Amino acid sequence: MNWAFVGASTIAGQYLVGAVRAQAGSNVVWIVSGSANRAASFAKDHNIAQSGTDLAAALSDPAIDAVYISSTNEKHHAQALAAIAAGKHVLCEKPLATRVADATDMVQAAEKAGLVFATNHHLRSAGSLRAIRDLLDSGKVGRVLSLRVLHAVELPVHLRGWRLDNPSAGGGVIADLTVHNADCVRFLLGEDPISVVAHMDTTGLGQGVEDSAMSVWAMPSGAMVFSHESFTHPFAASGIEVHGTKGSILARGVLSQEPGGEIDLITDHGITCVEYDRAGLYETVVRDFAAAVAGSGTAAASGRDGVKSLQIAEAVRAAALSGQRQTVNYGEAA
Ligand code: NDP
Repeated sequence: MNWAFVGASTIAGQYLVGAVRAQAGSNVVWIVSGSANRAASFAKDHNIAQSGTDLAAALSDPAIDAVYISSTNEKHHAQALAAIAAGKHVLCEKPLATRVADATDMVQAAEKAGLVFATNHHLRSAGSLRAIRDLLDSGKVGRVLSLRVLHAVELPVHLRGWRLDNPSAGGGVIADLTVHNADCVRFLLGEDPISVVAHMDTTGLGQGVEDSAMSVWAMPSGAMVFSHESFTHPFAASGIEVHGTKGSILARGVLSQEPGGEIDLITDHGITCVEYDRAGLYETVVRDFAAAVAGSGTAAASGRDGVKSLQIAEAVRAAALSGQRQTVNYGEAA
């Protein structure tokens, strides 16, 4: 499978080029950027044959099967629609867009064209989260009473750009991390939040956007969810806690781009350290995407999953802005 990458981004260079090349017979053969210099230097650094600023040129290349979009968030919509119109399968970064309507548009266009469209919610491809879901599905903790997603971290210095000062590019911690938390919760519990209450603030890094948020979600099963995300917490470990009637799962360090962290299952029998598959998260995302294109599997997170995570994040923002509980509006994606 030949890929065109749209966006000379940090994540593309750090993870996705390698993840594509880890699949037998797959390669990144185009890089498209808003700047010719950035495209050329990304191509040189990553040994990519063709580079430039002309998306149409890359999309008209019949050798391209799939497009990975990792530009800033406000660009995803137009770039995805162009890729779909050219008949290419699309793996798009989260959040799919800066507005739910645009994200829905992208997903519907791909469905109409019969193309695979997936969202890079990489955390559901982590062996750790898959192990936690297996524990929940097997009833090890009984009925889930509550789930806490601890995603307060310190934004690395090299990423302190548009996320901190550019709301129109999709900056802010809610667009960046609440969408991931929403996808984790949906993946683990297999249900979608009904309503949310929330608070957000600027606590040291954000300039015109929130850099910290906390929210509490009501789930159809009656489980309560707490979601904490921040860019300003240098010493807080990420984690997931699930508390049930028969046990608790305490997972530390699992909300990461790397396959790390520890999971403890605590029941009447004591504390058990849970082993899990430590395959690369992004390799798994690309592997599942390729299987979907081949018709032998499904993408880990679909376009519809990406729309729902954005709908939940929008509800969190609206709740924080208004101070009022918000019912999550799933509209056409429900
Ligand atoms: P970056 O800030 O690294 O890159 C985003 C865009 O910024 C690039 O496409 C590039 O534009 C431009 N850019 C990059 N370097 C420079 C520079 N030196 N000067 C000026 N402009 C520059 O973003 P990220 O890699 O952090 O994020 C990209 C996307 O991926 C976002 O949608 C984000 O939400 C998502 N993401 C997802 C993650 C996941 O695990 N699923 C993790 C991290 C990010 P151009 O393309 O025009 O060259």
